[in-house]
Amino acid sequence: MQNLDIAKFGGTSVANYEAMNKCVDVVTQNPDTKLVVVSACAGVTNLLVELASGAPDSTKREEIISQIFAIHKAIFENLPDSERHEAVVNEYLSTVRDLSVQATMTRTDMVTDRLVSHGELMSSYLITEIFKQRGFKSVCFDVRQVMRTDSTYGKAVALVEVISTLTRQHLQPILDSGDTIVVTQGFIGADSSGQTTTLGRGGSDYSAALLGEACHASTISIWTDVPGVYTTDPRLVPEAMPISELTYLEAAEMATFGAKILHPSTLVPAVRCGIPVYVGSSKEPEKGGTWVRPTTDHSPSFRAVALRRNQTLIVLSSPKMVGATGFLAEVFSIFAKYRLSVDLVSTSEVSIAITLDAGSQTSGLSNIPEALFHELREFCHVKVESGLALVAVIGNNMARTPHITAEVFSSIDSYPVRMICYGASSHNLCFLVGESEAVEVLTHLHKSLLER
Ligand code: ASP
Ligand code: MG
Repeated sequence: MQNLDIAKFGGTSVANYEAMNKCVDVVTQNPDTKLVVVSACAGVTNLLVELASGAPDSTKREEIISQIFAIHKAIFENLPDSERHEAVVNEYLSTVRDLSVQATMTRTDMVTDRLVSHGELMSSYLITEIFKQRGFKSVCFDVRQVMRTDSTYGKAVALVEVISTLTRQHLQPILDSGDTIVVTQGFIGADSSGQTTTLGRGGSDYSAALLGEACHASTISIWTDVPGVYTTDPRLVPEAMPISELTYLEAAEMATFGAKILHPSTLVPAVRCGIPVYVGSSKEPEKGGTWVRPTTDHSPSFRAVALRRNQTLIVLSSPKMVGATGFLAEVFSIFAKYRLSVDLVSTSEVSIAITLDAGSQTSGLSNIPEALFHELREFCHVKVESGLALVAVIGNNMARTPHITAEVFSSIDSYPVRMICYGASSHNLCFLVGESEAVEVLTHLHKSLLER
């Protein structure tokens, strides 16, 4: 079988007509790229989510629908036969309107998913038309024919085996014809009764990886608005350098930081089949990008440094902890009950320090329910600290190489370090510092570990 590359374009990559044309350039430059997965045009999913939240006021609803229309009009008005495309977009928007009214009466996750799926349905339709306008044979494939999920609306679970069977039946034959560029939607799927589902916000990368697995792709390219992964966030440290390749494990350790380029769950299907993933910028493809692979030629001790702000540290202590069994289990079950994702953990004989993953709880403390503290206080002393930032050093073989900790901490020895986590993974050393000193710490670390 011929090599197959799957190209996924995020919302900013398909934001408008010009951006979509850049995607067409990228796709048609690689003869292996035959399957294209797109997100909704930038901003559209957010507008649809707003409609789905049941905006009761019909003026507001119409305003949002006009905004969505304008984004797509700016694309189709550049196409031949624009009245026909306008009719298609209007047809989709009339369903959106009906669903948004329905959402004011009974807001369900099922209605929300049907509604928000229209972002991807419209962007994939329009970019297919641009491929045709540019003289390439292209079809828009409804991914719901193959992307089978369970019925957990809003964050559906992909049914990998079924996806693979359905892909073989419905998608592979079109790809095998060889001369057609197949465009499809990220993010959306369907359950066994044919109801539209979604894989969760930002789910298009995951769609691309799932399709990569089902089609036995040789590569998956994730095209976004940054030219790959950097040694640190260039907005914070201008000396940041692009990384040409890194392993799945290193990428997973980096994923939850700063630029959030690849989410680890996104990579799971690719990792399962060892498919290399490329990350690049569709606006500036010539700038190169990063390959994420099972193994890399070089495995430097230090690959990157990263920062995550807004960390909340919870310190739990109790003399009952000494030699007790089940203490940690009890603590963690309380966090689980409140659906709070625990990030770092460090323990002493009589205390446990825990940080809460700020990714989804960005405003820090305010999102932690008082009832959680109440339950914790029933059996231990609780102290909460905020104003902290998490710094992570990512690399290879860190726990087995001498001098690693000395190298890391000697360059920042004038800053207090609040908590350290080391040894769980040989790819990661991370610690907490004061929020106000975080960028300085990151800059020093980058200079001493990576600019040499
Ligand atoms: N359009 C969806 C979102 O904005 C999915 C994606 O872009 O990956 O969340
Ligand atoms: Mg996106």
